Amino acid sequence: MNVFVLNCGSSSLKFQIISSDPDLIERDEERMLAKGQIERIGSEAIITLQAEGNPPVKQAEPLRDHRAALAYVLKWITSAESRIPAITSLADIHAVGHRVVHGEERFNQSILIDNDVIAGIEDCIDLAPLHNPANLKGIYAARELLGSAIPQVAVFDTSFHSTMPDTSYLYAIPYQLYRRFKIRKYGFHGTSHRYMAHRYRKLADKTREETNIITLHLGNGCSACAIKDGWSVDTSMGLTPLEGLMMGTRCGDIDPTVIEYLMHKEGGSLDEVLSVLNKRSGLLGISGLTNDMRDLIVEMDEHQDRRAILAIDMFCNRVKKYVGAYLAEMNGADAVCFAGGIGENSPEIRRRILTGLDWLGIEVDEALNQSAYGGKEMRISPDGSRVLVYVVPTNEELILARDTVRVVLDVPRIW
Ligand code: ADP
Repeated sequence: MNVFVLNCGSSSLKFQIISSDPDLIERDEERMLAKGQIERIGSEAIITLQAEGNPPVKQAEPLRDHRAALAYVLKWITSAESRIPAITSLADIHAVGHRVVHGEERFNQSILIDNDVIAGIEDCIDLAPLHNPANLKGIYAARELLGSAIPQVAVFDTSFHSTMPDTSYLYAIPYQLYRRFKIRKYGFHGTSHRYMAHRYRKLADKTREETNIITLHLGNGCSACAIKDGWSVDTSMGLTPLEGLMMGTRCGDIDPTVIEYLMHKEGGSLDEVLSVLNKRSGLLGISGLTNDMRDLIVEMDEHQDRRAILAIDMFCNRVKKYVGAYLAEMNGADAVCFAGGIGENSPEIRRRILTGLDWLGIEVDEALNQSAYGGKEMRISPDGSRVLVYVVPTNEELILARDTVRVVLDVPRIW
């Protein structure tokens, strides 16, 4: 079964075509047939397309909206020049899996898309005004261009965290506010945390019930997750992806009074203050230079830039605090897993986060740590250490494809 996996952002579209079925999934032998991304939809779009075994092709083309972008991709997929194995017409695409950021409380697992599901995702727009509308544009466009006969599945960033107990997901505000408006922690990056848990089981030869780990997704957006007996029991992002760890441009945890105080002092609107917290804070806000961790490390190493060092120290300290909190919450863990652009590629940041945690049983083998980057999946803790540490290059598209297969064929989750 060829699954078209679609991830639409406000001005971007990413896709993969993955050949999959329950047997292939069981053996971890799915094949990625093609992938690509389109950025700057709405103006002169930048398009990168790549079929399996071929180099990427880059193009620029004015694409007015997500429908035009998807039409462009589908035309390429079925053209002779794309040379995608096993795809000659749209009939060779058997299902579509959509990433949807917010599923609120109503979507606690992946689901076949019909009109009711679309209405439900539209109802969640209030909680994810930046993300869900873009995801919906992908769904509308795919239904229109591929026809309603091709099954489409929604996979939610929030659903993995639906197993959190109320002690984790409630905010300590009047309980009626939760009841009336569903104000609570939802958590995000669920597919990435789920993927890390799945790989941990394979790498450490454990069952789902034996999965007691802390997963750290450190990219531009960052989140931590406590996974106990295979289920998410706590995570750092909240009602929206602003809460928790310090991120590229987001502040993470903050006293909410800062908002009112800043409005008062600067005379700005609420929207302006929220924009500061979402887009001008985090690594960028502290360093005053950039949200890009690679560049900050260069500034630290080559120029000893004081604020770059401060941003990096604050970033690592915040992650360390969450690791400590989750270890306490779970009565210890068997492993810590790193993913995301920073988690997968930066030995320096991993070392700084984990240094000084040896009394909790967490140690890093520095030679292994230094060699873990650029897509390598490996253990970086020394032999015999109490808590294992892994670098796990994340693969959210694979989880999207797997869920799509599972929902379309109506098979239970076996992985
Ligand atoms: P997103 O959350 O947008 O998907 P990514 O997961 O791609 O982002 O992560 C982007 C972050 O990863 C950036 O801060 C980037 O600097 C950082 N990063 C990528 N490679 C490295 C590296 N070799 N060392 C340190 N940071 C890196």
